[in-house]
Amino acid sequence: MTSTPIAIAIVGAGLAGIACARRLQAAGLPVRLFDKGSAPGGRIATRRREDSAFDHGAQYWTVREPAFEAAVEEAARQGCAERWNPRWPGGEQQARTLWVGAPGMAGMPAALASGLDLSLRCRITSLVRDGSAWNLCDDLGRSLGPFALVVLALPAPQAAELAASATPVAARVAAVPMAPCWAAMLAFESPLDLPFDADWREDTVLPWVARNSAKPGRRGLDAWVLHADAEWSRGRLEASPAAVQAELVQRFEQRAGRPLPPLAHASVHRWRYARVEAPAGEPWIADWDAGVAFCGDWCLDARIEAAFLSGDALGEALAARLAR
Ligand SMILES: Cc1cc2nc3c(=O)[nH]c(=O)nc-3n(C[C@H](O)[C@H](O)[C@H](O)COP(=O)(O)OP(=O)(O)OC[C@H]3O[C@@H](n4cnc5c(N)ncnc54)[C@H](O)[C@@H]3O)c2cc1C
Repeated sequence: MTSTPIAIAIVGAGLAGIACARRLQAAGLPVRLFDKGSAPGGRIATRRREDSAFDHGAQYWTVREPAFEAAVEEAARQGCAERWNPRWPGGEQQARTLWVGAPGMAGMPAALASGLDLSLRCRITSLVRDGSAWNLCDDLGRSLGPFALVVLALPAPQAAELAASATPVAARVAAVPMAPCWAAMLAFESPLDLPFDADWREDTVLPWVARNSAKPGRRGLDAWVLHADAEWSRGRLEASPAAVQAELVQRFEQRAGRPLPPLAHASVHRWRYARVEAPAGEPWIADWDAGVAFCGDWCLDARIEAAFLSGDALGEALAARLAR
């Protein structure tokens, strides 16, 4: 005799998946998280190299809603989130407080994920129906489950692909467009003499540059993260990393208006699904009959807080539904 499957599976331990799992766990529901990465956080990520570290995905976050504020304060109490007050060109000031993870951006999601049942390096490749339950298959051929319900906390195109044969709702998710972003990570042997730490401007190649090493608690060489424009990145989606890197370094040098110091490190990363272009406009999407639900930043906005609020709202709705 098999036991009744009551656990909930969440695929994706970015901030949306983490927020959803925290809600469910707080309601006393059994929940398991699976992520293909080696750390939780997804696009809130930190890459470490010999003498430097780079937040090559999300750069910082702002807070508007009390639910997210409470989570950020929890991470801050653990030393995993700090305020960042970068120098902007022309001494501009930001209206909102900017927050960053510590010691890297990934510190914040790691703090919020502690205490959750999380399996890393586990890429889910299909959802398999077994009576009234779901099993998940991973890329090692393992079958994980059974689960009463599956939450897909992934970028919309990846969620839609995984759920394509599980629910017709996947077609709605597939219609949410997400833009790519090439990121470059540069560290210099001597500091680059520029009078700012962060600069966002209208630019068809390089709208964002930031001195990563100027964020609080960072150590090591003078390290910069550059983010390429969405259209520019789309046009080079399958280009070689070496070619992309060469173009971005050249553009950065033009923008700096001076020769760059010798490079101690240079690399690039392609985010295929970096930012939602037209959000779904609802905090989560579910097919309760099929037992499949979706959350993620793409439901609401291209921001860290939106990812949290989407996962948190789905967790609350699920907990209320399962308590009936
Ligand atoms: C370059 C860049 C810059 C950004 N800058 C900012 C910024 O400055 N401020 C801001 O607020 N936001 C920024 N964002 C957006 C922010 O990072 C996202 O809104 C937020 O992190 C999304 O969280 P999420 O949980 O919805 O998705 P994700 O973080 O994408 O989480 C999805 C998770 O699913 C996992 N996964 C995918 N497929 C599978 C699978 N088959 N099996 C198992 N696991 C899987 C991934 O490994 C990942 O951990 C930026 C994003 C990028 C890429």
